[in-house]
Amino acid sequence: MTLLILGLLLAPKIPPDLVEIYRAANRAWAPYVAPVDEVKWCEEDCPEVMQEKELLGLCRPRPEGITIYLRYSGTYGRALGFSREEGLRLTMIHELGHALGLDDSNVPGSIMNPDWRQPVALGPTEGDFQALAKINTHYPHPVFDKSPR
Ligand SMILES: [Zn+2]
Repeated sequence: MTLLILGLLLAPKIPPDLVEIYRAANRAWAPYVAPVDEVKWCEEDCPEVMQEKELLGLCRPRPEGITIYLRYSGTYGRALGFSREEGLRLTMIHELGHALGLDDSNVPGSIMNPDWRQPVALGPTEGDFQALAKINTHYPHPVFDKSPR
């Protein structure tokens, strides 16, 4: 956890307020900790995210670790009634869910449901944690850090 925060603080493209948003999004998944080693804030030069107009975030596994790209498109988020901070936090929670191994979901109310036209979950639900617990039973050893913080 310390390393994740340290890596985030050292990343050059992240505005300072994103650090607290990242911490809050991480706490939402406690006791799970996503193995993210890089978070990139994208305003304009983020082709991976910019390819899709309405994409607010992206979780990309690389051989060295997981990168989360985050973009907050003011027009899209504001149209749904979220402040910039709320939109970023919810997007980050969703991407951390991917980093933990969850796929997009079509379950209404799941934070992993990418359709923000429906009522949007404000954090992981019991169902999201159950899905996560299910994933973990597929591995002989827990692959995700569950150390309490
Ligand atoms: Zn997704």
